Amino acid sequence: MPFSQPAVIRSRRALLPAGERPADVLIRDGRIEQVAAHGSLVVGDSELVDLGDTALLPGLVDTHVHVNEPGRTEWEGFATATRAAAAGGVTTIIDMPLNSIPPTTTLDGLAVKRKTAEGQAWVDLGFWGGAVPGNVADLEPLHRAGVFGFKSFLAPSGVDEFPHVEADDLEAALAEQARIGALAIIHAEDPAVLAAAPQQPGVRYRDFLASRPSGAETAAVAHLLDSARRTGARVHILHVSSAAVLPLLRRAREDGVRVTAETCPHYLTLAAEQVPDGDTAFKCCPPIRDEANRDALWEALADGEFIAVVSDHSPSTPDLKLLPEYGGSGDFAAAWGGIASLQLGLPAIWTEARRRGHTLADVVRWMSAGPAELVGLTGIKGAIAVGCDADLVAFDPDGEFAVQADELHHRNPVTPYAGRTLTGAVRTTWLRGRAVDTGTEPFGRQLARPANSRTEKAF
Ligand SMILES: [Zn+2]
Repeated sequence: MPFSQPAVIRSRRALLPAGERPADVLIRDGRIEQVAAHGSLVVGDSELVDLGDTALLPGLVDTHVHVNEPGRTEWEGFATATRAAAAGGVTTIIDMPLNSIPPTTTLDGLAVKRKTAEGQAWVDLGFWGGAVPGNVADLEPLHRAGVFGFKSFLAPSGVDEFPHVEADDLEAALAEQARIGALAIIHAEDPAVLAAAPQQPGVRYRDFLASRPSGAETAAVAHLLDSARRTGARVHILHVSSAAVLPLLRRAREDGVRVTAETCPHYLTLAAEQVPDGDTAFKCCPPIRDEANRDALWEALADGEFIAVVSDHSPSTPDLKLLPEYGGSGDFAAAWGGIASLQLGLPAIWTEARRRGHTLADVVRWMSAGPAELVGLTGIKGAIAVGCDADLVAFDPDGEFAVQADELHHRNPVTPYAGRTLTGAVRTTWLRGRAVDTGTEPFGRQLARPANSRTEKAF
């Protein structure tokens, strides 16, 4: 439902920063101009969209998406990823610096990404940089050019052109990021612990799980926190899969280390006990662990220990996943590690959150306001508040649907949620006040990190 502005969107269930309220939201020039009592705004000649009991959410901010273009566009791509995002209620994505070729580790690499994304983005889009061995001198120029921070791997990343950092490289990268005020985002698994773990290739999920033990996460996080403490860098732990990491983060914060963490829908909604042997759609690193661990992650989430729940959408082609239904071996050790879920994160989390007694306000904090805060976009994205971009989602909290992988906008029809029934349906997504209609031209913008962002008030 595209409308010319100004417009009023009315809902009895608007998710405002203060919680769920009946409200009228006035939109002008792509921004939220006023939030008022339900039914109170005289709309005059502007359009009114009355959602009734359908909830109105701020668009989700997904700070962990691997678009893979250029270079591995057959895995995903800007058009397909951002279309999937819009269909899933995500209005801002931040693209990871690797799996594309070139990776975003130099100014030239960033320029290639920006040029490639032009005219292809259905939602707003920003970029992470990468900190790899030997590119310390590239970090400040990339930071000035507006990347939202720098990703490093402490263990092999899975692609040759994005090597992991050893202790010295990490220390140098963190020292430089502390100096320039950048956010370091870290894939934390320890290569020595991984190398010492039992390696048993094959279709059995428990063998794969044993090859990526929880101890690899805790060892890497402990090492990272030491380095963060020494350098003063602000660090963010990506995709925490093991709840054993959480006490380390708590202690470090008490010590004054500036650390945040995220987890992902697959760690919160799936469990090792349910992974069928050979079903490599479930493979990711670090891996989906057992039910007890999942419960502990939910407790931590409820306690505010995660700033964000983000997808880590990292698809590949079905043949690289070695999926048996595509003639593959189903070997977990050899399959590409990455889960495709960009379009499904909101309903997946809402389905499980509701079962556990959480509210839509919680989901909005985890998936919209929290990630916006992480990347310094508070006041611009992630809230239904005056002055924010009118990125909005009409969401039916009771709508049920069965996931059909080939009906998703993802480029490849592979997702561990295939066949599941999820609750929560996105009805309309508005980006800066315009309904996203994938039958027309895309109008997503490229974002740069706001120059004066202060993003650490809560941590
Ligand atoms: Zn990732």
